[in-house]
Amino acid sequence: MAVRECDVLIVGGGPSGVTLGLFLAAAGVSTIIAEKEQAIYPLPRGAHIDHEIVRILQNVGVAEDVMATSRTGGRYEFLTADRQILLSFDWTAPGASGWPYSNMIHQPSLEAALRSRLAGCPDAVLQAEWTFVSMETASQGVSAHFATPAGPETVRARFIVGADGARSPVREAAGIAIDDLGFDEPWLVVDTIVHDPARLPDRNLQVCDPARPTTCVMMGNGRHRWEFMIRPGERSEDVLDDAFIADLLRPWDVEGAVTLERKAVYRFHARLAKQWRLGPVLLAGDAAHQMPPFAGQGMCSGMRDAANLWWKLVEVIQSGADDRLLDAYQAEREPNVRGIVDMAILMGRTVCVTDPEAAAARDSAMLADRAAGRSPDAQAGYPPISAGRILGGSAGAGGYFPQPWSNDQPALRLDDVTGPGPMLFSRSGTVPAGNSGLRVMELADPSITFAKSALEDWLVRHDADAVLVRPDHYVFGSGDPARLIAAWQP
Ligand SMILES: Cc1cc2nc3c(=O)[nH]c(=O)nc-3n(C[C@H](O)[C@H](O)[C@H](O)COP(=O)(O)OP(=O)(O)OC[C@H]3O[C@@H](n4cnc5c(N)ncnc54)[C@H](O)[C@@H]3O)c2cc1C
Repeated sequence: MAVRECDVLIVGGGPSGVTLGLFLAAAGVSTIIAEKEQAIYPLPRGAHIDHEIVRILQNVGVAEDVMATSRTGGRYEFLTADRQILLSFDWTAPGASGWPYSNMIHQPSLEAALRSRLAGCPDAVLQAEWTFVSMETASQGVSAHFATPAGPETVRARFIVGADGARSPVREAAGIAIDDLGFDEPWLVVDTIVHDPARLPDRNLQVCDPARPTTCVMMGNGRHRWEFMIRPGERSEDVLDDAFIADLLRPWDVEGAVTLERKAVYRFHARLAKQWRLGPVLLAGDAAHQMPPFAGQGMCSGMRDAANLWWKLVEVIQSGADDRLLDAYQAEREPNVRGIVDMAILMGRTVCVTDPEAAAARDSAMLADRAAGRSPDAQAGYPPISAGRILGGSAGAGGYFPQPWSNDQPALRLDDVTGPGPMLFSRSGTVPAGNSGLRVMELADPSITFAKSALEDWLVRHDADAVLVRPDHYVFGSGDPARLIAAWQP
């Protein structure tokens, strides 16, 4: 048995692992993705991605494919049992990323687009039916062992990324503990094929009915989802019965408008791994964090991990940066994920109230807040980066950098012009980038005329001559261009 070698070994060919593999392959990093299954996970999971994730898909070359089967999310409402509005979020405006703020998708279609893109990458390979069994780690790297249909395989790599889902055998093998944040609710998820969209809600709903908390959301084109909280004493095999599901759907009056496509029972959890890096071992996606799906952010968070991690790995592997740079990964990502998990738990606790008195108290408090204009109703902001590879103290550092776009058909977006690396946008003429690895662009550059006024606005608002934007579109820092270039050196 030959030992295979690569720079980065990713265990898990879900959305986090394949997105990371695509970024690394595009940068020329040799990557193996080992996936225990042959097929993409077929049961109901992600139905929503936010605008930042579409930008990530754009960056790995699959946004058009995914958007072709998705639709914008519109409004997201929390209702009482008798359909009074407790909360109503308007998610119809475009996000700062240049893509619709909220997008309803079909996770297997999104994963298929990622995998088909990967098939064309010479530097990354997905090995299906490779089951991670064990590993030995040393300061210089890792040897990982797999069971495959052709017998055992070993891969030696500089880094191993456990993108192997909630149970994460890599996390287990590394001995990394996971904190349980105390959410644990059983739900039935039902996906349907739509025949008559006019008979379905045109918005995403959480019906906070203590008799049966229920989610009703749009998905990618031609599909619609319901989720039903499972009551004490109900067994999985009973609630998965088609006749039981038909009874649950009856109040929605959708007989003939939809047919059942797939169904599953899940326990919704909230958990965070204590360490996201241990020597050559890194964790990404559900392996590092799990959250209940009420904010539609689990997969989104895993794809943000990939966007955060790839360029740090590239700097260490290709540019000889100190591998302590990888410690910034958890420092940067964990507060963002924690903020999102807290939001998902809050939404979940609002919905999953089954005691009628508690539900009545919740309803009257939330209705009063809404009547007084105290309810949140806009796009959610996610916590910015507050520590790690940013120039602390400079205006805008750690915030999300927008992507200006043109209204041409097809639309031209800033990242399509600039490409994947770190960028310095300057309004004070050409600045030598030295060996910083940065691409420097003057605002006067004719290729970004469509973006000039938006970039200028950003610089004026932050009182800066230049802004240095990291490859994941978070701001490293702003201010004097020469100072930014010097500070960016690893
Ligand atoms: C009902 C529901 C609704 C959801 N809705 C949303 C939503 O709207 N938006 C959103 O963003 N997220 C949503 N999520 C969450 C989202 O589905 C997950 O967060 C996402 O799939 C995690 O991706 P991942 O790549 O990290 O892990 P996974 O998709 O779990 O992939 C891990 C991969 O690792 C492989 N693997 C495991 N063990 C091994 C091994 N030993 N060797 C090799 N390979 C292995 C698995 O086969 C799997 O393919 C939802 C989840 C559920 C359950």
